[in-house]
Amino acid sequence: MLVAAIQDDYQIGLAQMPVPALPPKGALVKVIGCGLCGSDLDKFVNQKANPGSVLGHEVVGIIEALDDEHPSGWKLGDMIVTAHHVPCRKCHYCLNDSQSMCRQFKSTNLNPGGFSQYIALTEDHLLHTAYKVPAGITPAEASCVEPLACVLRAVQRGGPQVNGSVLIVGLGFIGLMAAQVYQNDGYAVYGVDLDTSRLELARSQAFVVDTFHPVNERERLDEVLKRHLSVGKVDTVFLSVVNPKTIEMALALVRDGGTLIGFASGPEGTTVDPSRLYFREINLITSYSPSLEDLKNAAHTIFNRKINVAPLVSHSMPLPEIGNAFELYRSGQAIKVFIRMGDSAL
Ligand SMILES: [Zn+2]
Ligand SMILES: [Zn+2]
Repeated sequence: MLVAAIQDDYQIGLAQMPVPALPPKGALVKVIGCGLCGSDLDKFVNQKANPGSVLGHEVVGIIEALDDEHPSGWKLGDMIVTAHHVPCRKCHYCLNDSQSMCRQFKSTNLNPGGFSQYIALTEDHLLHTAYKVPAGITPAEASCVEPLACVLRAVQRGGPQVNGSVLIVGLGFIGLMAAQVYQNDGYAVYGVDLDTSRLELARSQAFVVDTFHPVNERERLDEVLKRHLSVGKVDTVFLSVVNPKTIEMALALVRDGGTLIGFASGPEGTTVDPSRLYFREINLITSYSPSLEDLKNAAHTIFNRKINVAPLVSHSMPLPEIGNAFELYRSGQAIKVFIRMGDSAL
């Protein structure tokens, strides 16, 4: 079968691999497509995964073979979406709402990875991370379940607010999903991005109350928040882009006692002066990867179209074009790329 794998020179390239064996009590899934995630880009640009690795974890496919002793509820031909990591659900991390820190979580994965014509799913995947995609939901929409789960966790970690307001920093795929989640929770949502086409998308889809260019429209942003909000600043700043400039803006625009949610790692060496947090009781929260409960909520949200992800999937490209797909994503021209597998190169 054809896969996209990291090459020795850390470029992404096509390779042939044997179709994985059917795992005991598991399933073999013929992949329809897989979303390209920022973490995939990070893994090969910053050389965090070994050559030969097959990336991709936002995967949708059709069950083509099932072991005789598979968990109940699955049948051949089911369209499924699945996440890649399975927490143990028993360790100290798992019992204390840190499933994504569970030592088993990161040691489990799809075999070989989502950018592949077939993947093997273990019994644990079928039991805990896979969901049957209902009729009427497209594979590209279904592929948004795992990244949405990450967003749901971040929003939940920020805690509920009465008459809440949020500033979304970075209106890419994650920011535009977060905007809709906050809207559904009754927040007044404002957004900033350097890219005017993204500001336009957020406004035209009514995902936000208003959008602003963070440099050219900074005065208008201050003025609008003062006019709209009783305390003149937002309760929460959701940072899908983390760097010294966005942190500075967030600290200026969050209310006393408010919350900054960091949804990205940011440049090494970035610092925040603790005295700027302490005296104003600013909460600094990060969110990295979802729990099983978040996945379940995300599947429900997407399958019932409680948020609209279709306009966010800006590109759908066949597997042999994955190099171009990464480039479009890296350069900011793509909001979300869905990589289609297809039969042609088997
Ligand atoms: Zn991801
Ligand atoms: Zn655990």
